[in-house]
Amino acid sequence: MQGRYGIDALGRFLIYSVMIFSLLNLLFGSLILFTLDLAIWSYAFYRVFSKDIYKRSMENNRYLNFKACISGKIKRFFNRFRQGGNASGDGSDECGQKFRSKCNSFSGKCYDDTYKVFKCPKCRQKLRVPRGKGKIMITCRRCQYEFIKRT
Ligand SMILES: [Zn+2]
Repeated sequence: MQGRYGIDALGRFLIYSVMIFSLLNLLFGSLILFTLDLAIWSYAFYRVFSKDIYKRSMENNRYLNFKACISGKIKRFFNRFRQGGNASGDGSDECGQKFRSKCNSFSGKCYDDTYKVFKCPKCRQKLRVPRGKGKIMITCRRCQYEFIKRT
């Protein structure tokens, strides 16, 4: 196992999902469940034996971020419930401030909904542009390269 990635939080989660799907598959015997099960299983195996440790740990980070995000949302939901519909949402939980804006489940990042971030195709400079403007011409502030993107 030397030089291999092994099992992390995401790996454990994948294995649990496989077990749940297998159980459901035993009960319902669905081809979709079976395929899904097989897919997750292969992905879990692939991760355990992967040599690209950096990439795997990035995936794990994204998973942990996403999990923190979801649990923060659930916590806030129940807090609101407890306060009798008085939605103050003080955001005192560890996730409250960080994940107040929209969460992207794939990148694991939470970003401000009113802006979109593009990378300059030429110099990779990150450029923030307002959303919902349709197709606009973006001028890179570093190298002055111009490109068109939909926001
Ligand atoms: Zn540029």
